[in-house]
Amino acid sequence: MRVLFVSSEVYPLAKSGGLADVSAALPAAMAELGVDMRLLLPGYPSALEAAINKSVVIEINDFMGCGVTRLIIARTPDTGLPVWLLDCPRLFQRRGLYWDKFGADWPDNWLRYCVLNHAAVRLACGEWAPGWRADVVHANDWHAGLVAPLIAAVQGKKPGVIFTIHNLAYQGLFPAHIFPQLGFPANGLLPESLEFHGKVCFLKAGILYSDQVTTVSPTYAREMLTPEYGCGLDGLLQRRSKNIAGILNGVDYDIWDSANDPNLAGAYTEANLAGKARCKATLRAELGLAASDAPLVVFVSRIIEQKMADIVLQSLPAMLERGVEFALLGDGDPVLEEQFQIAGRRHPGQVAIKIGYTEPLGHRFLAGADILLHPARFEPCGLTQLYAMRYGALPIARRVGGLADTIVDADLDSIHSGAATGFLFGEVAPDALVAALDRALALYAQPGLWRRMQRRAMTRDFGWGRPARRYLELYSRIAPQAAAPRVPDQNSAAALIQRV
Ligand code: ADP
Repeated sequence: MRVLFVSSEVYPLAKSGGLADVSAALPAAMAELGVDMRLLLPGYPSALEAAINKSVVIEINDFMGCGVTRLIIARTPDTGLPVWLLDCPRLFQRRGLYWDKFGADWPDNWLRYCVLNHAAVRLACGEWAPGWRADVVHANDWHAGLVAPLIAAVQGKKPGVIFTIHNLAYQGLFPAHIFPQLGFPANGLLPESLEFHGKVCFLKAGILYSDQVTTVSPTYAREMLTPEYGCGLDGLLQRRSKNIAGILNGVDYDIWDSANDPNLAGAYTEANLAGKARCKATLRAELGLAASDAPLVVFVSRIIEQKMADIVLQSLPAMLERGVEFALLGDGDPVLEEQFQIAGRRHPGQVAIKIGYTEPLGHRFLAGADILLHPARFEPCGLTQLYAMRYGALPIARRVGGLADTIVDADLDSIHSGAATGFLFGEVAPDALVAALDRALALYAQPGLWRRMQRRAMTRDFGWGRPARRYLELYSRIAPQAAAPRVPDQNSAAALIQRV
């Protein structure tokens, strides 16, 4: 089984969030199952620098009008997986994956990822890499949304396409006038194909034309079929629901291993948490928090509305009244960042704000924390709560998406049976968050019960083994039909689409 995995981020080559973690760990898990996994991602400066064993496969003078473009074959530095980097300096030689330094989207993002998608099709169909063609293309998020319609238009032998939605809110929406430059016939922009409210929608393309759609948790797979969470695509998703699966993301426990993590001041396991106390003391000192025995509550997140950062800010006074220490690590909305910083200056010793994100600091925050705040207006899967649980920090989270699937709320039954691993709440409101904190603090005050929850959280298995086997089933299901010409299941729009 040969699979081309197309993603705009792969840790440690390029990362803006959880997509990068998944795009690193899932292909590695698939390779362990014997799949010939190859990655394709843009040749961002960070990726060209971090990849190892690089050599040029082909050089094209003016690929799709974007100047000299080279396809580089390399290996990921940690897992050693083969990775193709599309080195097109005009498109990718910039600081910032998707945004400029002011946080504004690059105006040619449509072209950058369109070109990546065309490269994916050439690779998958054996045009660029002699001796290798894909049985399956695994395309991720809107950045790879055009792969499926482009492959639908290929004549003859072609791979199956699986499309994974990591976040429905990012849709790759662009003005209609760019459509003729995407490589489809000029009259092909139709409501039953790539058009979405008068714009071109890359995400819709992936949903409509792929053989199989997946998303990253069973609950989100159901939620996204509803108007509340469907971001306008719920009708289309309902029509495709027979071909939609929710497969929970996993954790790479080689990277998230509290017993063996070079970033931490102390090693620890569920059987001996002494090292965690050292991690907490060291983090407190690093952040200038008062050395007390207060519970340390952290918020490690992008500082955006999706993560309810506004509600966390509004809840802060009530949290501090309860005597907790609060530490934030992350970045995002500049206005919220500034307000958190003001709170930090107002409460030195009790509030610590670190704007930005680095992996070592991310590890130290979760190892040092007693409690992770992970509220969310919606959450396709969420990884941070899984990392936190592994590190013995219990999550307070909203009961949505992957958070609902991975956290067992501490109610009377689950506390009694020992199944509880965190605290879930329902409303998008400061009162609801603070009520969940109160429940957490009541248990924190009973060290025996708290330790039991920590141990349970630390030993739950969210490894990639199970999800990888589910993906393999899906790959196997869609690969054989790749040899036969396919008729798109929704409509005849793909018939309009010709490959350039
Ligand atoms: P999302 O991808 O929506 O941000 P996830 O919980 O799925 O949320 O994944 C978050 C990943 O990004 C984790 O690896 C986490 O350590 C990391 N992370 C958290 N906050 C930030 C941030 N502000 N910038 C970059 N990465 C972050």
